[in-house]
Amino acid sequence: MLQLFIPLNFLGFVYRELKKSLADTARMFRLLDARPAIHDAPDARPLAATRPRVAFEHVAFGYDGARRILDDVNLTIEPGRKLAVVGASGAGKSTLARLLFRFYDVDAGRITVDGIDIRELTLDSLRDAIGVVPQDTVLFNDTIEYNIAYGDPEADADAVARAASLAHLDDLIGRLPDGLATQVGERGLKLSGGEKQRIAIARAMLKNPAILVFDEATASLDSHAEGAITGALAELAADHTTLVIAHRLSTVVDADEILVLDEGRVIERGTHAGLLAADGAYAAMWRLQQRRGAVTTAS
Ligand code: ATP
Repeated sequence: MLQLFIPLNFLGFVYRELKKSLADTARMFRLLDARPAIHDAPDARPLAATRPRVAFEHVAFGYDGARRILDDVNLTIEPGRKLAVVGASGAGKSTLARLLFRFYDVDAGRITVDGIDIRELTLDSLRDAIGVVPQDTVLFNDTIEYNIAYGDPEADADAVARAASLAHLDDLIGRLPDGLATQVGERGLKLSGGEKQRIAIARAMLKNPAILVFDEATASLDSHAEGAITGALAELAADHTTLVIAHRLSTVVDADEILVLDEGRVIERGTHAGLLAADGAYAAMWRLQQRRGAVTTAS
């Protein structure tokens, strides 16, 4: 039975991957059709700032002509500060991060880094300056150490271990017989979503980017995993200009500013305490979470 199961399982995997890649390709071509390619302006210059200010000024954007996803969005993240964006699923939160990374250009308004329109910066220098901790971290079939050091082949073992420690991975690594040398991924140890995200946080720590974008996983986590992620993020964000796309209010309580996005518009902004006192949409979201004992911001 097992002999039959393994090849069938493998075929299933191949089928799923093929389907996914065809869907991705189809979507990519639709996007390529719909929008001009992103490339360097002829006189583009490299970004120099190490602790930059990020600003969105009257930004409007839609993936296609049919629907506006962001409408007149204004925000500023001061150097070294943390701005969190919350709102229901589909409100446009992750789109902000995609625009900052210049996967797409805005339709109106502008995004600046230290006052320079990002369309005037070289793409390489912009993207090098941004560390992204994505919702779903894809790990390579290799060791934990490789996965943390990925992108920085020069990183020495001590630096990797330090990053792992700051990302609250010590517990996990301590339980593994081969520690940092343990194989992970399809052919190795399967890690939980929270553990994978902490590996991405360690990777970002090693990269030490000027700007950090943390796209929080939507999957619910147990309170231990959530505490570990929140702690790891706090370490990482402490010294970086940080944009957090949040699904759990526990992640945003300590943010310098919180934006509430609704159908692409900013409907509220302030600190956690200020927004609770204002008793609007954020306060309602907060009360809902308290009642449910749940932690998601999407209603
Ligand atoms: P979630 O909390 O579920 O992650 P979000 O607030 O981050 O949601 P976005 O991912 O920014 O939402 O998406 C905003 C809207 O844009 C959604 O309606 C989504 O369907 C649409 N959208 C996202 N990506 C694309 C794309 N590549 N092409 C067309 N529409 C898209």
